[in-house]
Amino acid sequence: MGPANSVKRSQTEIQSFLEKEKEKFVAKLDSPLRQNASLSDFELVRTIGTGSFGRVILVKHRTDSENERIALKVLEKQVIIKMKQIDHTLAEKKILQALSSPFIVKLLYTFKDNSYLYLGLEFVPGGELFAHLRALGRYSEDMARFYSAQIVLAFEYLHHLSVIYRDLKPENLLFGSDGYLKITDFGFAKRVKDRTYTLCGTPEYLAPEIILSRGYNKGVDYWALGVLLYEMTAGYPPFFADQPIQIYEKIVSGRVRFPAQFTVDLKDLLKNLLQVDLTRRYGNLKSGVKDIKEHRWYKDVDFIAVYEKSVEAPFIPKTDKDNYDIYDEQPLQVGTVDRYPKEFMEF
Ligand code: AMP
Repeated sequence: MGPANSVKRSQTEIQSFLEKEKEKFVAKLDSPLRQNASLSDFELVRTIGTGSFGRVILVKHRTDSENERIALKVLEKQVIIKMKQIDHTLAEKKILQALSSPFIVKLLYTFKDNSYLYLGLEFVPGGELFAHLRALGRYSEDMARFYSAQIVLAFEYLHHLSVIYRDLKPENLLFGSDGYLKITDFGFAKRVKDRTYTLCGTPEYLAPEIILSRGYNKGVDYWALGVLLYEMTAGYPPFFADQPIQIYEKIVSGRVRFPAQFTVDLKDLLKNLLQVDLTRRYGNLKSGVKDIKEHRWYKDVDFIAVYEKSVEAPFIPKTDKDNYDIYDEQPLQVGTVDRYPKEFMEF
């Protein structure tokens, strides 16, 4: 069988694989994970991350025989209400518990009490890509190819399930002990059949159609992929300024400048991802993610091998050391009454 045939065959296999994954996802979505733990089941170790609505604490399960380490994401109900994030929080739990991908953190426990909502995630020990990238300055195109290929595969999966992620950035990409990535933070993920309008994300990574309040869909994730790819290979994002408004002006302008070291193929791919015109943006066209996977810049990447993790990772994190920043510790203060029983009933 010639290469064209084998490519064709694997395309068909991928398609039927994705179809089966979708069936599993939809079944799980409709029967969400029940509350399966409580705070007293865990020994709190230390805070390893903060978000807008709470923080992430490294914890150990007290009775689990393997003393499993868990990243416990703690969201404060009052803050969620104040920041009008109820729907996003409910969607985060519902979507994450139904997902299953080698490149997405697993949700293992969920519970709530009078003051907080808790998401117990598999602990990813290697730290944020953000910290690693800043320490190295920038990545070689080979390294960026390896990491971005995993994001492409994760997006192919998510978009097949009609889920858009909306928060791609180096802070949300964590290194597993095998040197492969896991995406965390599904706080903005949404199941969208047609289009959506909410302004959310991180300024440097926002697609022009979000800024311009046009309805948008999965194309925003491919724009963000372009931003990430640029940031990994340049060491800084393509659109930056002191104030968000200045960043937005640059984003919608349609102009991108590339550093001299970028190869022709990388520039070509980036022009097609950082494409303001949605009818021309790669990932968003008729052939979908295929335009990206078959782009010349990825010509030596075997996406199936990456999916199966049989490609050697360019960097293996040291997991005997602590790879997360130190944060001020604040004790959790669980109130004696639940002021929002209705709002978070579904959680
Ligand atoms: P989030 O609020 O979900 O964006 O998480 C905030 C930060 O906590 C992330 O940027 C990571 O540094 C850390 N974090 C989140 N999830 C995990 C995890 N599963 N394992 C290790 N660290 C995590």
